[in-house]
Amino acid sequence: MEPPPRDDAAFSASFRCFAGCEGSFPLTRPIYRCPTCDGLLEVRHDTAALRTRSAATWRKLFDDRYKRTVWPYGSGVWGKREWVAPEVPDDLIVSTDEGGTNLFWAERLGKEIGVSDLWVKQCGNAHSGSFKDLGMTVLVSVVRQAIAQGALKARVVACASTGDTSASLAAYGAACGLPVAVLLPRGLVSTAQLVQPLAHGATVLALDTDFDGCMTIVRELARRELVYLANSMNPLRIEGQKTVAIEIAQQFDWEVPDWVVLPSGNLGNAAALYAGFKMMVDLGLTARLPRLCVAQAENANPMYRAYVAHDETVASIKAKRSLASAIQIGSPVSAPRAMAALRAMDGVVEQASEDELADACARADRTGLYTCPHTGVALAATFKLRAQGLIRETDRVVVVSTANALKFTEFKMGYHDRTLAVESRRANAPILLPPDVEQVSEAIRRIAS
Ligand SMILES: *Cc1c(COP(=O)(O)O)cnc(C)c1O
Ligand SMILES: [Zn+2]
Repeated sequence: MEPPPRDDAAFSASFRCFAGCEGSFPLTRPIYRCPTCDGLLEVRHDTAALRTRSAATWRKLFDDRYKRTVWPYGSGVWGKREWVAPEVPDDLIVSTDEGGTNLFWAERLGKEIGVSDLWVKQCGNAHSGSFKDLGMTVLVSVVRQAIAQGALKARVVACASTGDTSASLAAYGAACGLPVAVLLPRGLVSTAQLVQPLAHGATVLALDTDFDGCMTIVRELARRELVYLANSMNPLRIEGQKTVAIEIAQQFDWEVPDWVVLPSGNLGNAAALYAGFKMMVDLGLTARLPRLCVAQAENANPMYRAYVAHDETVASIKAKRSLASAIQIGSPVSAPRAMAALRAMDGVVEQASEDELADACARADRTGLYTCPHTGVALAATFKLRAQGLIRETDRVVVVSTANALKFTEFKMGYHDRTLAVESRRANAPILLPPDVEQVSEAIRRIAS
């Protein structure tokens, strides 16, 4: 007797042009732009097939799988595989048990700013220390599937990176034995971020340019079919990253918050959040979309500028140096996708200066968080929206923390020893004392007074 067909065999997805040109392409095809208009691609799911299951059935399925151990469903990404990349066989999935990150109720910080329902989604508590793992597990798994099908000429997977994409790609590549090359802007990533791909054995190319310069080169390498492109121009990344939206709703028992605030650079994650929230509405799991705040560093703010000028398109700028190095991007690849997300989610764009992001980090850390500079940008934006009254006292607000602050020790230390070019209003330096009980006692007494 034939075995019954695999339950998810009916679900499928393909690449389509984001602007709506004709044509669809298998996810295993190394294609990154629409062959007709050269625009961005997106992953389109067979929604009719997904609708054959009720919203209640999907919710229960996702809840039953959440953080359990049956391969590969304990992963926050693969637990939603039918919505992500339904056709990857189990044995080709490369997973580090991504997702399932904690939601921190920022009660004290919320009280300080007058928001009673403030949460931080800790995406940095991940295998490689940033949310990039959510997308990379999908991309690397599909690459293995493409290799297994003989559909891939390139044997090296590569990316341009501001530090976290390369760390994640190097980890997933090493986990399955794929050769990885990463292009980094020399001197613009943290020590930890540089060490990560080195430790995983990736070929690390440190180029004397910025992220946008690295991106131009890696796109040309992909065009020459020397490498498979792992940047978020490749919509496979967005499919994995969109599960953070689903997970946020799931963690609130399938309710969506009023606001999501997201630190953004290349703008792929903004598109991913929208894709996740929209899919839940389309399939009836949730009733509405949250409002979106795209938070940018003032020194790298092309989307903010477009927003303020009411422009439909985001013009490239030369990004200036920012402590929020992972979002120091002047020419965001996913700008058209993010503009669509902003429109649909009644969104706003806010920015944070270097002083503001550093102060927001220090303030949040005083309440028990430990925040990377990008999360600082999102928190500073949140403070501003609250002060403007756009965020109301009773709104449920989720700030997405994109990376683990342990990767940014230079930033933290520099703030507290006052060597950064920002105002260190909350600096806390160690007190150097001899091993003398009286002097130590005196220092302790000063806490109480
Ligand atoms: C990649 C990254 C971002 C920005 O995400 P985009 O999709 O490029 O907008 C923000 N914060 C951190 C820590 C990142 O690594
Ligand atoms: Zn097109």
